[in-house]
Amino acid sequence: MYRCAKCGEPIRNDTGGQTQCDKCGSWIFIKERPNEKKVLKSD
Ligand SMILES: [Zn+2]
Repeated sequence: MYRCAKCGEPIRNDTGGQTQCDKCGSWIFIKERPNEKKVLKSD
């Protein structure tokens, strides 16, 4: 999952090729990590 670095719009890379933000037209994206919270504590 990627997000636009400018406006934060979620990007869906369906084409597999070049991806552009539909909202602002930016080509810069940041990768989003869905599994951010790791709870490995076992108290
Ligand atoms: Zn954007």
